[in-house]
Amino acid sequence: MVSTQVVVIGGGLTGISTAYHLARNGYNVVVLERRGVASEASGVNAGSIGSIGCGLKPDLTSTLQTGSMRIISQLQSDYGFDIEFRQCGGLQAIHTLNEYDFAKKRVSKLKNNGYSLELLSSREAKELEPEVNIELPGYIYSPVHAQVNPQKLTLALAAKSVEYGAIILTGEELRSIYLNGTDSYQMETQRSKISCEILIIAAGAWSKSIGRMLSLNIPIIPIRGQMWAMKSSTIHLSHVISSLESYYHWHTHPGNTTISPPNLTHIEGARVTRHLYGRQTRSGEIIFGGDRQSAEFNKTPEDSGIKANKHHATQVIPALKDHRISRTWGGLMPFTMDGIPIIGKVAQSKNLYINTGLGPNGLAQGTMAGKLLSDVILTDQYPKILSSASPDRCITPVNN
Ligand SMILES: Cc1cc2nc3c(=O)[nH]c(=O)nc-3n(C[C@H](O)[C@H](O)[C@H](O)COP(=O)(O)OP(=O)(O)OC[C@H]3O[C@@H](n4cnc5c(N)ncnc54)[C@H](O)[C@@H]3O)c2cc1C
Repeated sequence: MVSTQVVVIGGGLTGISTAYHLARNGYNVVVLERRGVASEASGVNAGSIGSIGCGLKPDLTSTLQTGSMRIISQLQSDYGFDIEFRQCGGLQAIHTLNEYDFAKKRVSKLKNNGYSLELLSSREAKELEPEVNIELPGYIYSPVHAQVNPQKLTLALAAKSVEYGAIILTGEELRSIYLNGTDSYQMETQRSKISCEILIIAAGAWSKSIGRMLSLNIPIIPIRGQMWAMKSSTIHLSHVISSLESYYHWHTHPGNTTISPPNLTHIEGARVTRHLYGRQTRSGEIIFGGDRQSAEFNKTPEDSGIKANKHHATQVIPALKDHRISRTWGGLMPFTMDGIPIIGKVAQSKNLYINTGLGPNGLAQGTMAGKLLSDVILTDQYPKILSSASPDRCITPVNN
């Protein structure tokens, strides 16, 4: 039986960042990961760090984004990890005049609140990014938007955690948890037995099944994201490219029901909007994705969605039409029913914490989520900025 102070369940970005921040503050930490570090959503995402700055009055989203950006850039500049981090800026395509009106109001409101973004004509956007479609009504430019290699980022944080003494056990699937009296948790994987004082659930889309082991209902819904890639030696993209179409739709039709989270591209299997994000990686590969669909735990991409997404991308970057897709892949995002993450102490059990529910934004926000949760554990204080993310709002005993 291995005994430690803290066990983190899940070796994705959220779990690894939590482990890193606790280990550097002197805690003895073991991470239990069923597969490998960054083997799920944290390793297969698009690498887009969406941000429009912290504004005049930072809220939870901007705190998670700007804090993450700071830690990520420090990993590269201060600790020397080559994680392909680049503050490249983002361009969001506007497809219709209705979207343009919406964009104009949105940009003006956000700018008045201190955020960094601009509404550009398509000609101005083309000066920044020569491949964008000049026929579209315009683009929203966000200069602080960044990109990173998501796998390298998570592996860099894992390496720093190990440097601070954390132990990362891979190929260890948690199978059961027992609360031993009120003092410690005992866990079994298929290979090991471990006990700890503090238990942290950071199992992404699988967090619900970990909750069941503790007779808790953790309302995390797995949502499939899917992507495609192509090789091109003639196209050069420097910004993260996205589209306003889905945000315009979700603004008036978030689509959440009692069983479905908000801001999906499909409801009951039928498409309701198109979502798009993508970039060119350092190796030159162009990657795009967008669909957010409930498909239980099925990660296999759906051809029709890939085709629709490529068509959408081609409307923004016309040169893509001459190139063939070289590979596709999918992953599962941990969505919550209200679209807000779950970060904090779980009231129903002693020394139990959770860090999940970052949905489609976990790359951009997971690093800071790890720091904030570690601060909660270190100080035994719950900062006001986390109040909307409180586990109390949604975690219940299984029988209720
Ligand atoms: C295709 C796609 C594109 C995306 N693009 C972006 C993007 O551009 N920008 C952005 O901000 N976000 C993006 N996201 C979202 C982002 O990737 C996720 O929000 C984030 O990675 C979630 O991190 P996590 O650590 O919570 O979960 P995960 O990375 O899924 O990690 C959870 C870990 O828990 C482990 N685990 C589960 N059960 C057990 C068990 N019983 N025992 C041990 N270990 C277990 C899993 O193996 C897994 O490694 C995208 C997601 C997808 C799928």
